Amino acid sequence: MKVAVIGSGGREHALVKKFHESPSVSGIIAIPGNYAMGDMAKLVPGVDLEDFGEVGKICDREEVEWVVIGPEAPLSGGMADFLERQHDLKVFGPRKLEAQLESSKAFAKDLMKKYDIPTAGYEIFTDHDDALEYINRVGAPIVVKKDGLAAGKGVVVAQDIETAREAVHDMMADSGGHVVIEEFMEGEEFSLMVLVNGEFIYPFEVMAQDHKRAFDGDTGPNTGGMGAYAPVTHIPENLRTEAVDKIVKPMAKALVDEGLNYFGVMYLGAIVTEDGVKVIEFNARFGDPEAQVLLSLLESDLGEVLENMYHKKPFSLEWRTGCVAGVMLASQGYPGAFEKGKSVKIPETLMPRCFVSGLDRNEDGGVVTSGGRVLLVTGHGSTIEEAAESAYEGVGQIEYGTDDFFYRKDIGYRAMK
Ligand code: ATP
Repeated sequence: MKVAVIGSGGREHALVKKFHESPSVSGIIAIPGNYAMGDMAKLVPGVDLEDFGEVGKICDREEVEWVVIGPEAPLSGGMADFLERQHDLKVFGPRKLEAQLESSKAFAKDLMKKYDIPTAGYEIFTDHDDALEYINRVGAPIVVKKDGLAAGKGVVVAQDIETAREAVHDMMADSGGHVVIEEFMEGEEFSLMVLVNGEFIYPFEVMAQDHKRAFDGDTGPNTGGMGAYAPVTHIPENLRTEAVDKIVKPMAKALVDEGLNYFGVMYLGAIVTEDGVKVIEFNARFGDPEAQVLLSLLESDLGEVLENMYHKKPFSLEWRTGCVAGVMLASQGYPGAFEKGKSVKIPETLMPRCFVSGLDRNEDGGVVTSGGRVLLVTGHGSTIEEAAESAYEGVGQIEYGTDDFFYRKDIGYRAMK
């Protein structure tokens, strides 16, 4: 089969790599892709992912059978609907209505409430004063979320009322006036990816944990993800089972009961509270950087997995043993303002362990930064400690201006305590 992977980041790099290793896959097109995928996939640079017509034309021209959509924006914009209906393609990634599970926090929270799926108590506000009144009444810590896609940066976990008030003020100004205010939950977080076709579901046996905060010790602002590791060795299997039974299965059923037909990855961001496992959020696609570490451990042929999911044909997911850790190199200043065009030299021998998010080739053939999150360097080992050590050893092989980049030095620390 021929597969098109939509997107240009590290998650898509991991998908391309996985398809490249899959015997059932005869060809890969990356739309637009990035330079690091060039030896595994045909790249189509310069494509605007909002131009669904153009994407459809490329898929037809390349005689693609399957399309896998990586990022959230085209999913919530209805790319899957368009490619399925207008181009008769098999698309792994939910359609616009189903993708609201991620694109609208209000939609997701209301669905969880209706179907009794455990999550933080919340209220949705369109009125500024009502929101402030609620914050004063409930007190801090409290969590303020923008309703809509925000690339991991639309959440403020406020430790005091003043911070919560400021967050409401900022978010009301640029989210069309909708904010979700949630009860603060405390506990260990984990990410669980689930392959979903209606109520036919395959939760990954291996879970991952990412590091959303910018700085060591989980401090600083939320980011798109500064690193990840898998498996989450300190979270026991019974908590994964609880997440599947109390959250994943009921949510898959809820979507079906609502007349929706979800086909793609459902990402559960969960937290282990004193009252059991609860939902922090759902995403409608693979996490980034969780995909990079999880797909490194997946042994199964991903092409076959897609076919089986499509036909609802039972199969088993095969996993490699051992652990993987990934360290994200980010541009200095991210998630705030940062400069692009900074030079990086990655040894060829390290590339198989790297997943490129924000790098490009310049006219001289050199590699320069083009984004906030730049590169995830992974390492494998029989323990998280070994995997992290190997990832940091990899980071040490890269040549870059130390003032141009930063990375967290404590990836995996929660599993090492
Ligand atoms: P992304 O889609 O990139 O994962 P997001 O912007 O949708 O991020 P969330 O995942 O909802 O944001 O929240 C980001 C982080 O904020 C969570 O991983 C968690 O650490 C913290 N957080 C969110 N909601 C709560 C809550 N109710 N209580 C405590 N912490 C929370």
